[in-house]
Amino acid sequence: MRLLIVEDEPKTGDYLHKGLSENGFVVDLARNGIDGQHLALTGEYDLVVLDIGLPGVDGWQILQAIRAQKQTPVMCLTARDRVDDRVKGLELGADDYLIKPFAFSELLARIRSLLRRGKTRDPEQIRIGDLEVDLLRHKVLRAGARIDLTGKEFALLALLARRQGEVLSRTLIAEQVWDMNFDSDTNVVDVAVRRLRAKIDDPFPAKLVHAIRGIGYVLEERVL
Ligand code: CA
Repeated sequence: MRLLIVEDEPKTGDYLHKGLSENGFVVDLARNGIDGQHLALTGEYDLVVLDIGLPGVDGWQILQAIRAQKQTPVMCLTARDRVDDRVKGLELGADDYLIKPFAFSELLARIRSLLRRGKTRDPEQIRIGDLEVDLLRHKVLRAGARIDLTGKEFALLALLARRQGEVLSRTLIAEQVWDMNFDSDTNVVDVAVRRLRAKIDDPFPAKLVHAIRGIGYVLEERVL
């Protein structure tokens, strides 16, 4: 798990960096708002711990910039114990709010809770057109009718559905579904996709799985 801490106060920054690293997180520390905003927008983080009072670009501006682009969970830290600050933070899309000074154990517990919550945000059911994929119950419906898939076919469909609209390369599909590298022979992916299409697409007029020549496959609804 990768965390970004944005904190201008040197002692607090060092203390958070040390404490969270010791608890198994990979931690980047930005000591001002400009670096913090840049890292938050360009890096891949599981959570951002964001101080509000920062010189230059403050925490509010960073929070707004993050929310304009991403769903990364944000925990705001502030010394200002004012109700309107809290309301402002939550309205701007902060996921949690902690008032300084705080106990490290409380920060850690809240970070873990936010990360758990983030995981369950993964939808249990995905709908693409009239295709319904139930990720928990491994159930697939098209136009209301049940479709039986093998384990691999389901894994392939789940991957395509979770990342619908995104073109996935054969190599990526091979790695994710078979947990193997098929450097030379991605033909296995084509064969599996053909079988999947035979079940979920061939009987229906609107096709959902599309081949992208020379790259791979994408699952999406195309309006004709
Ligand atoms: Ca500060």
